[in-house]
Amino acid sequence: MDVNTLMNRGLLDIKPYVSGKPKEEVAEKYMVKEPVKMNSNENPIGVSPVALSYASEILPQANIYPEGSNKKLREEIARLFTLSPDNVIVGSGADEIIYYSAMSFTNDNDEVIIPRITFPIYEIAFKMMRAKIVTSRMDGYIIDLDDIVNRITEKTKIIALCNPNNPTGHALNKKKISWFVKKVPDNIIIIMDEAYMEFADREVFPDTIAMYKDGYKNIFIIKTLSKAFGLAGFRVGYGIGHADFIRLMNRIKLPFNISLVSQHAAIGALMDNEFLNKTIENTKEGRKMIYNAMDTLGLSYVPSSTNFILIDTGQDGDFITEELMKRGVIVRSGKNYGMHTSIRVTIGTREQNSEFIKALGNIMK
Ligand code: PMP
Repeated sequence: MDVNTLMNRGLLDIKPYVSGKPKEEVAEKYMVKEPVKMNSNENPIGVSPVALSYASEILPQANIYPEGSNKKLREEIARLFTLSPDNVIVGSGADEIIYYSAMSFTNDNDEVIIPRITFPIYEIAFKMMRAKIVTSRMDGYIIDLDDIVNRITEKTKIIALCNPNNPTGHALNKKKISWFVKKVPDNIIIIMDEAYMEFADREVFPDTIAMYKDGYKNIFIIKTLSKAFGLAGFRVGYGIGHADFIRLMNRIKLPFNISLVSQHAAIGALMDNEFLNKTIENTKEGRKMIYNAMDTLGLSYVPSSTNFILIDTGQDGDFITEELMKRGVIVRSGKNYGMHTSIRVTIGTREQNSEFIKALGNIMK
């Protein structure tokens, strides 16, 4: 038997997603007691207490399948954005919504434009569907929207745009996005992945849901509760867009894709403004703290609209990552993304940020 002749040929050149190393693995390998996990953009404050109480209240009912369409959670999300629940689909993380987008809209050899530096799941999902990936260029650390527009052809089906982008942390402003959306023909779907938008300045960055309501029905917005809402372990994300898009995705949606407990946790988290505000405040303070320290160390970084910062260490990113792990701090190397001297660090609590700054300073000496 030859698996190469059996496989979906879309999988041929897919490299599996590499997730951030877990704490336990680093603790064991480097013999550090309590490593600080700053590699997966998780919420350092914890889980919203409202989410926790909603989740624990429902636990005894976990012998029953959850309501299959995630109705209550969709209603809650729709209420937040003054939309209809028919405009909302919920997934096991934003990742699942990315997969559903690819599965629902891609035919063989459709062209999908993806910026060269971005969240890798887009490439995986669209390759799986045998799309032709068209890679657009970066203008330094900024997604080059002109280049995306220039790459549009009759075969272009989807443009995948993370705003703010991961791993750069850079966000394109209102003016740029509204220019872009006007330029893109309305038969091309623009995926706006806003996994980190809660951390961006609302005055400067686009309100894509308002743009959708204003008539740009080809915008499909993806969001997550993994970051600002602290539910990474519960796995809840969602998509917002035209009811016809959502209906199509519902043809293939796994029947019970969000566990009962996660659905309830998500409803609780979305109501917990106190936790959200605390998280955003901590992120803003942490960004300033790390910027100041990097200025002192003479290292450059990309000003961030997210809960992480991309730092150019001027040395091999894998080496610095390794050295940081030896000192009990886990970050991501930029090497996987082709940024050989960069590391990406998630904003932690004040204490965690201090540990990171101390360890990096130590290595740089
Ligand atoms: N989009 C972007 C840009 C991300 O960085 C991530 C997580 N790292 C996701 C989507 C997926 O998030 P989740 O599946 O945890 O909701």
